[in-house]
Amino acid sequence: MPPLPPPALLTRAEIDLGALRRNVRRLAAHVAPAHLMGIVKADAYGHGAHPVAQAMAAEGLTWFAVARAAEGIALREAGLAGRVLVLGAPLPGDLDAHAAHGLDLSVTSEAVAEAAIAWASATAPAGALRVHVKADTGMHRLGLSPDAVPGVLERLYATEGIEVVGLLTHFATADEAASSFADTQASRFDSLLHALERAGVPVPPVVHVANSGAATLHPRKAVPTGAAALARVGGLVYGVPSSPDLARVAERLALEPVMRLVARVVHIHTVAAGETVSYGQTWTAAAPTRIATVAVGYGDGLPRALSNVGVAAIAGHRYPIAGRVCMDLTMLDLGAPDGPGRTVQVGDEAVFFGPDGPSALDVATCIGTISYELTTGLTERVPRVLVG
Ligand SMILES: *Cc1c(COP(=O)(O)O)cnc(C)c1O
Repeated sequence: MPPLPPPALLTRAEIDLGALRRNVRRLAAHVAPAHLMGIVKADAYGHGAHPVAQAMAAEGLTWFAVARAAEGIALREAGLAGRVLVLGAPLPGDLDAHAAHGLDLSVTSEAVAEAAIAWASATAPAGALRVHVKADTGMHRLGLSPDAVPGVLERLYATEGIEVVGLLTHFATADEAASSFADTQASRFDSLLHALERAGVPVPPVVHVANSGAATLHPRKAVPTGAAALARVGGLVYGVPSSPDLARVAERLALEPVMRLVARVVHIHTVAAGETVSYGQTWTAAAPTRIATVAVGYGDGLPRALSNVGVAAIAGHRYPIAGRVCMDLTMLDLGAPDGPGRTVQVGDEAVFFGPDGPSALDVATCIGTISYELTTGLTERVPRVLVG
């Protein structure tokens, strides 16, 4: 007997690497003279870290960032060259792994600086550990108090096993064009640069402050004076703006969404007026209604919060989600049996977000979250299918 063909692919996330590469080109031009850094944490915002990093490298990017050392090690094992910065806070036992895999370390506290100095003094040849010092200018997540930075930098410079590469900070509100707190954080960072100058402590060769919002909505904050600048642009590279202001930027720069979540209709039926659909009977047919059952659910990462509020597009028409999103299946209200939804058939494709469907930002906004949570939330059951 010939081998059986595999079952049909019912759910997929299409990843348009052509769109990604065009976005990289447009953003690299926009942030110049800063260099665009490829932010590939959380599996490249759910798009697949290795193919994404490869495509970015093919566009000439040489700097990458991940959140955790394990993500950086996986990229190294997949063959990624170039510089890889781990943005997250290390635990003291992680320094060997950073050095062994050539991962740049974020110095996120005075304690991390002490650990790095102790590690380098004990074991390391010159420049064995590359570090970036992170100043906390108001995000209050990770980083040293700006007051502590000059002293810590001096001690790091004095440690032979350490190469001080960068100085960074991170903004809390840069995705809002009108945020005055972004100005506050920028001026705290500028004060730090002045303090370094006054103290005669050299600014590290690379300075990076800008995420998607700071690089585009607060551009003067993206290029600090002195050293070379990197722009840590994440979401916009994937064409998933995290705010309405950034959606306008994405439109202005002609950035394209890279991901599209597609699922097949696997069943169609008509329910009578007064009948309910899905768990908990939260949706009731006001009239006879055609219902499409689609092979996607919260087990794929489609948020259950979209129950009765989300939509999906089939052949360009938007249909509301009827009743609760289930683990593996979601029902769409196709309308009256003789209405426009009458042409939908088993096997048709429904787009839950991305090109030809609602934008990830629209979907996210309707359930009170941001687009990043949708793209990073897709589970392993959803194959990432490379297109473009
Ligand atoms: C995730 C992250 C970024 C990228 O942010 P976007 O809003 O996606 O551009 C930049 N810097 C740090 C420290 C981050 O954690």
